[in-house]
Amino acid sequence: MINFNYIQASGITGALQAMAKDSTAMFIAGGTNLIDLMKRGISAPEKLVDINNLPLSNIEKNTSGVIRIGAMALNSDVAEHELVQKELPLLAMAINAGASPQLRNMATTGGNMMQRTRCSYFYDISMPCNKRNPGSGCSAVNGYNRMHAIFGASDACIAVHPSDMCVALAALDAKVFVTGPKKDRTLAFTDFHRLPGNTPQKDNELERAELITAIEIPSNNFNKKYHYLKVRDRSSYAFALVSVAAALEMNGGNIIHARLAMGGVAHKPWRLREAENYLQGKSANEETFKQAALLSMKDARSYGNNGFKLKMAPQAIISALNTAANK
Ligand code: SF4
Repeated sequence: MINFNYIQASGITGALQAMAKDSTAMFIAGGTNLIDLMKRGISAPEKLVDINNLPLSNIEKNTSGVIRIGAMALNSDVAEHELVQKELPLLAMAINAGASPQLRNMATTGGNMMQRTRCSYFYDISMPCNKRNPGSGCSAVNGYNRMHAIFGASDACIAVHPSDMCVALAALDAKVFVTGPKKDRTLAFTDFHRLPGNTPQKDNELERAELITAIEIPSNNFNKKYHYLKVRDRSSYAFALVSVAAALEMNGGNIIHARLAMGGVAHKPWRLREAENYLQGKSANEETFKQAALLSMKDARSYGNNGFKLKMAPQAIISALNTAANK
């Protein structure tokens, strides 16, 4: 770990100015991932800009029914908030599937989105890794890749995004609000994280010195029939092998609208739009869910050790949809 300067920002403008003065500066909020990255020599900022005092922790609903969650709202506060429990229970369930209570008490909404892959080669600085050291190669493609992607990967990187929260937000059509030195802007949540392509060092579309200020989730009818299924090696404090966020709006036994996204399978939360379209208007039964799972898997590929995900993922989709439909 290198020596670094530390400043506490008291306002958004000051935080942005502090970043602009130093090309290696980084924002720090809960620090639940960044401190690990610094200790291991993967991130080496010469300045940390502490944003914990920024007024970005509110969780509120506007007159259109949109729920806005400040980027500094803690994961545990979001999951326990009465608005989220009542109107976005899929999000609460996904957050509570992640990490541990201690980590959720420290981790922020924005920080959760910014966390980096847990690919073991990324954390081992003796090994080639295009994400950590562009152009050095990917140790996982022909290495031990049990945890790695089955969708949307490239020869340059087959890592997966580790968040549970983000899978639910992708399914629920959230938006991301960003401010920066040039302008404020809004991105669809599904456009925030990137596929690796030839630039796997870039996890998301955030530009240098930009700051996430909030996310918004539109009003929806997905608060009755929903499920977040996380398949992992042990029942707590483990990253997903495969996860599924499923939500159904139903009329009797018929599906009016469906939302489906997967985690642990791609460099970003993996929205299953083709399956969603297929489910719309169908009867909710095992055969329908099998077809949805088949459609979801048509572009999947294995890299060796992660071949089991090709069988696990469709089973997880069917199971999550069954649980949601019968809730
Ligand atoms: Fe690095 Fe990505 Fe390859 Fe892992 S999968 S070694 S993060 S380039």
